[in-house]
Amino acid sequence: MRGFAFHRNSPNKRDLPPALRDELEQQRKRDLANRQRPGILFYPATWVFISAAIMFSSPTPEKSLWLAYAALLIFAVSSYRYYAMHQFMRKLESGREASYTPLLLGAGFSASLWGGVAALSVLPTPFAPHFPLFLTCTLGLCAGGAASLAILGRMVNLFIICLLAPMTLALFSAYSTQPGVIGFLLISFGLGMSWISTLPRHEYEVAVLSIIKLSQQANYLTELTIQDGLTGVKNRRYFDQILSADLRRASRLNYPISLLLIDIDHFKRVNDRYGHLIGDECLVQTAQTLMRQLQRNSDVLARYGGEEFGIILPGVDAEEAAALAEKLRSAVAACAVWNLSDPVSVTISIGGVSGVPKETMTPKQLLELADKALYQAKSYGRNCVFWSSLEGVLTPVDSEKGAQC
Ligand code: GH3
Ligand code: MG
Ligand code: MG
Repeated sequence: MRGFAFHRNSPNKRDLPPALRDELEQQRKRDLANRQRPGILFYPATWVFISAAIMFSSPTPEKSLWLAYAALLIFAVSSYRYYAMHQFMRKLESGREASYTPLLLGAGFSASLWGGVAALSVLPTPFAPHFPLFLTCTLGLCAGGAASLAILGRMVNLFIICLLAPMTLALFSAYSTQPGVIGFLLISFGLGMSWISTLPRHEYEVAVLSIIKLSQQANYLTELTIQDGLTGVKNRRYFDQILSADLRRASRLNYPISLLLIDIDHFKRVNDRYGHLIGDECLVQTAQTLMRQLQRNSDVLARYGGEEFGIILPGVDAEEAAALAEKLRSAVAACAVWNLSDPVSVTISIGGVSGVPKETMTPKQLLELADKALYQAKSYGRNCVFWSSLEGVLTPVDSEKGAQC
């Protein structure tokens, strides 16, 4: 398993493997979209608060009109943003490529609108007497937004600029009703917010990458517990679990299941003659040859014991399974492992069982039937296939046609 270099205080994303970088970005997109949700509500909620404060303190018909126009714009932009974010999440969940653009546009658009409306309190408008209220709410939105959008640098900087720039420009303009020096304070506040957001961003990246790494390690460990160390196919533990589950499903849904037990012929002789290393190589080669013949995802090949393999074929009847078994037998016989210039080839004997199982049938009974068929194949001279019905009737499989005779 590949690791990655990622130090706590110096996340260098260029050092990450591309797959890991993609996973980090996917997670960031999901989290960013989730973090935007409260932001969408905050603008209308703050506007309701500002409107209530103005209307209770010094209401005039002109102010009500301006408040209502601004409310319409803010609600319209928030609704659009909600819709765009919903579409974005659907895209992400369906696994399609989703760029940051709609999120950036949404945040930039609503921050600019708020910034524009707040800038009106700096100019000679009906909002001018309420400048402190607008300033406080804008700084509050800026701090809250910067904290929740901190996980993407571009996003937080765009947000801060869009939110604070209109008021700052208005403060420096000739029409400003407030001291221009407040503009410098706003610039410092924006820069401070942008700088503060870098720390949580780094912490976020370290945390997400640690979670991804842990889940990769967990997957790797799970894979190890179900895999045979030598051949790389599944191990006996996994085989037993799947056989029991597949057998239950087949009896419940009333469809056939086939089970094959495969044993390498005279394998002890191979070990004795060529040594255990060549023997091991033969085992690996045999496992790979068997694996290549299996087509369906539901087919399971496992190393059942020393030089024995098991195959579960859910939904496969006797005719199809016996034909496959014959294909497996001839494929293994045709392969050789090279010992210096000496080809070492092995043959296999196969015992199979097929049928639609009754509810009372156990994995042990099915294995016993396949084992009896295998024993028969060994007694018959090896390098052949025998098949059993669920009732225990044994028949040899024709090696020419790959079908039961
Ligand atoms: P038969 O045709 O009756 O199956 O004969 P056989 O020699 O294959 O059967 P037997 O049970 O007598 O011997 C099995 C051999 O498989 C003995 C053991 O040394 C070998 N074997 C089991 N596991 C491994 C392994 O992991 N690596 C190697 N190289 N050999 C193994
Ligand atoms: Mg054996
Ligand atoms: Mg053997």
